[in-house]
Amino acid sequence: SVPLAFLGGIGAASRQGVLIKGSNFLEALSKTETFVFDKTGTLTEGVFHVKEICPKHMDADELLELTAYGEAYSNHPIAVSLREAYGKEIDGRRVETIKEYSGFGVRAYIDGRQVCIGNSKFMNRQGLFYQPVQAIGTAVHVAVDDQYEGYILIADVLRDDVKWTIHWLQKHQLEAVMLTGDNERVADDVAKQLGIDYVYANLMPEEKVDQVREFMESQMEEEKLAFVGDGINDAPVLALADIGIAMGGLGADAALEAADVILMEDEPSKIVNAIKISKGTIRAVK
Ligand code: ADP
Ligand code: MG
Repeated sequence: SVPLAFLGGIGAASRQGVLIKGSNFLEALSKTETFVFDKTGTLTEGVFHVKEICPKHMDADELLELTAYGEAYSNHPIAVSLREAYGKEIDGRRVETIKEYSGFGVRAYIDGRQVCIGNSKFMNRQGLFYQPVQAIGTAVHVAVDDQYEGYILIADVLRDDVKWTIHWLQKHQLEAVMLTGDNERVADDVAKQLGIDYVYANLMPEEKVDQVREFMESQMEEEKLAFVGDGINDAPVLALADIGIAMGGLGADAALEAADVILMEDEPSKIVNAIKISKGTIRAVK
């Protein structure tokens, strides 16, 4: 039977906006030494703004429109942000089929033309030449019918309470690690602002799983690992980690299902509340 203190702990956490799906996770959290964070939508808000539009042939408005159309049916934070930046209604009749390649981008038919939208890896994979970008930001490259059309540079902002959260973890000898599918410049910039020493960039969704598995294999029996993600593309990692912590607000259904702990208000600092409750509960049970 579950000691009453566990139920009390779960109740206290839920009143603070942290949903814990079982007393085993409360116990595991008290033994967690490593917190692995996904970047986009977790450490950052997942709301990108446009920094620069660099078209090759068309004008800037056209490139933005094409990109918003290509991203019409994706729920990736990049897609949502580009549609927001475009700001106009999307005419669904102009968009044909859309396929999303997680960790890469999307491919769509717009007005009968094939449009590829995504990162440099995606352009490489399609055999398309692209313009390398030096500025810090996430470049969304666009190609139409195999012709490179330029890129849109976008950037995201840190969540308010994340610096404080990382600092708190480190002060308590808990390790903070960042994983991201985004490029190294952006990853290093975010890590530097937050004081995170362990950064892994350019990862495909499967590579995030492999990396977390590797961390788990190298930890001691008693040690636990938590993965914190926004749920876009990372349900498998949430499921694999000893404790999967998902952002509740942005989170896709699959992620909320896969997660063990849900932060209802998308506030990373709530992890600290949960850790305090878990340690308090374990002390009360012993
Ligand atoms: P993260 O690890 O930052 O959460 P993802 O694994 O979801 O990122 O995506 C990694 C990269 O793949 C993004 O930074 C972006 O370059 C590219 N990408 C993924 N989905 C899309 C999309 N719908 N449109 C454009 N680019 C995308
Ligand atoms: Mg993500």
